[in-house]
Amino acid sequence: DAKRGGRNMARLFDARMDEGVRVRRAVQDGLSRAIERGELDVLFQPILANGSLQIVGFEALLRWYTDEFGPISPATFIPIAEESDLIHELGDWVLARSLEAVKTWPDHYVSINFSPRQFGRTNFVGHLMETVQRAGVDPRRLQIEITETALFDDVERAAETLYRLRQMGFRVALDDFGTGYSNLYNIRKFALDALKIDRSFTDGLAREPVSAAIVRSIAQLGQALNVEVIAEGVETEAQVALLTAAGASHFQGFLFAHPLRSEDARLLAGSGLVAEAQECGPVAIAP
Ligand code: C2E
Ligand code: MG
Ligand code: MG
Ligand code: MG
Repeated sequence: DAKRGGRNMARLFDARMDEGVRVRRAVQDGLSRAIERGELDVLFQPILANGSLQIVGFEALLRWYTDEFGPISPATFIPIAEESDLIHELGDWVLARSLEAVKTWPDHYVSINFSPRQFGRTNFVGHLMETVQRAGVDPRRLQIEITETALFDDVERAAETLYRLRQMGFRVALDDFGTGYSNLYNIRKFALDALKIDRSFTDGLAREPVSAAIVRSIAQLGQALNVEVIAEGVETEAQVALLTAAGASHFQGFLFAHPLRSEDARLLAGSGLVAEAQECGPVAIAP
């Protein structure tokens, strides 16, 4: 009957809640030991200039390989790490790996994701600058990727932080643009080098007129702000054509290259493949 059904439903719901809490704890426990266990890696995905198709930089993407659950996506574990100071430990590790990698490339930048909690950390800029200087890396070879969520909590403070970062020479990119709490009025206050068009818009480009309109709007906004417009998740030639028509200045996606092991990124960055890509079109690299 209805009453029993309701009770069963409640029990099922509780069981699901327990499951969620259990998974979270397991992820937290596992993550806190992942560094010492050597289960983490940072991969580097090329970012190319539209037109020349020359690689200008690589995005650092964290990977976690567990014995128990296999590979776990950062889309799953980053939000859980973000709930505690664990994110700082992971972030420092990613930064260290990224600095090692960028030193092996001729002149490309490394683009590093920072979550809102990292961006809001006390002395974020000072800590970053100190680490980068200690590694002997020019800040101009680092791009800081942050999302809108990190900015619109305290607009004045965020604007000040971005200004200081750029004063020191860091590049700044607004990641997943258009998916967060965009505030087009405030965007003028932020010192930026690039807007990154979220993969979901690139994905919908050929199918949904609305996605195409959004991409065109972002590209126009980018041009007005005089910043680069990097399209993420580019998988097809058709998308390249549509993105080019819309005004995207840079590409990142599986059509050109998957995220690569640091050794492969080093070979690609220093190889003639870059020059070849300028003449012959996209470089296809296996994952
Ligand atoms: P994101 O910063 O927007 O990174 C782009 C995501 O798109 C990456 O997913 C990348 O592997 C994926 N991607 C790139 N090209 C294609 C394509 O052509 N097709 C498809 N289907 N996907 C493509 P990934 O590596 O799973 O990372 C997911 C998210 O996790 C990132 O999104 C970022 O928000 C976060 N993340 C990853 N590494 C870090 C990190 O070191 N620190 C922080 N705070 N967040 C990170
Ligand atoms: Mg990113
Ligand atoms: Mg992104
Ligand atoms: Mg994205």
